[in-house]
Amino acid sequence: MSEPASVARLTRDLTSALLPADLEAFYQDLHRHPELSFHEHRTAARLAERLKSAGYTVTEGVGRTGVVGVLANGDGPVVGLRGDMDALPVREATGLAYASTVDGVMHACGHDLHVTWLTAAAEILAAARETWSGTVVVIGQPAEESGGGAQTMVADGLHERFPRPDALFGQHAAPGLAGFYPHTPGLTMSAEVELDVVVHGVGGHGSRPESTVDPVVTAAHIVTRLQSVVAREVAAKDSAVLTVGQFHAGTRHNIIPAEARLALNLRTQDDSVRARVLAAVERIVRGECQAAGCPVPPEITVHPGFPNTVNDKALDEEIAAVHRELLGHDTVFDFGPTMGSEDFSLLAPAGVPYDYWYVTTTAADVWEAAPGDSLTEKFANVPGNHSPHFAPDLSVLVPGARTLVSAALSRLT
Ligand code: ZN
Ligand code: ZN
Repeated sequence: MSEPASVARLTRDLTSALLPADLEAFYQDLHRHPELSFHEHRTAARLAERLKSAGYTVTEGVGRTGVVGVLANGDGPVVGLRGDMDALPVREATGLAYASTVDGVMHACGHDLHVTWLTAAAEILAAARETWSGTVVVIGQPAEESGGGAQTMVADGLHERFPRPDALFGQHAAPGLAGFYPHTPGLTMSAEVELDVVVHGVGGHGSRPESTVDPVVTAAHIVTRLQSVVAREVAAKDSAVLTVGQFHAGTRHNIIPAEARLALNLRTQDDSVRARVLAAVERIVRGECQAAGCPVPPEITVHPGFPNTVNDKALDEEIAAVHRELLGHDTVFDFGPTMGSEDFSLLAPAGVPYDYWYVTTTAADVWEAAPGDSLTEKFANVPGNHSPHFAPDLSVLVPGARTLVSAALSRLT
């Protein structure tokens, strides 16, 4: 660990020659060719090819489409840098010259930026290897959006086949006037659980409901009653979000279907809150089905999802100090934990500290034009992650490489 000022100075020296045009071309190519979770073949190949020519030992196909690049450069700490690579099933509506060429698929979460930042940072560290000692492990992770990417890499031997990091770093593109680097020590993102519910009724003719048990009405009661869980069972000091994202039932106007299916998404920041909400969901689903007289109990499937992302406090404070020196003291602030979720933390072996921060990406003119007077109002009115209008400003390409390089150098030098 070095003085923030000297890390910032070294980073500025090493990155002053970064060519925005090269990063733009690389980024725009990734943006034009988005790939869904576990299908990031082209993206992974682009990353692997640049890492190889920079001198990394590269292994492809780690956890299906993942990429690991290792640069061993003498004794010293091992630093892991992670970028996720997948795009989303969103039809792009930005109208950009370099918009997606794949119908219905879009880099709407900025993972193309993440790959660009990761590639640039890896190249700079390789070119400057006489200035530091240790090992850099670059992780191109598949399938963050669908979940499963980090787990699949770990199951494929990420922690055994490659050097185990002493510190792991990641960053995410976020809405907000470009040029800010929010850091949160401790809890920064929430845990996520997904649930599938099947309500079994008795189907029949729409004109004779008395001969059926209508699963649409039962599921509707469940949806309504679930809204009271966070409102009435979670303490005001705690946080939780319970969303019913899917409600499927029926085929025709005049048929009462035999079943209804619900898909639920739960975000929490505390294990006991999660347990309480899960118990409430189960109680309500079973209770409503019993009240309706369903002939068979409902099926409730709980999918594990993502854990909390908890930055190591000391490491986050160290890297935030470096970023302040490098990018300006007012550009780094703590906006507290969000209800977003990530599988990034699963890539850190148990006990290994990690740090995950944001890079804001909204173009200045878009920010200015957004309705609202306060930061919060504007923030709510600019296109965010997963929006078909999400269009990060190209001015963030170089700074996002600098944040990663400086984090790595803070530990390597
Ligand atoms: Zn996303
Ligand atoms: Zn994302």
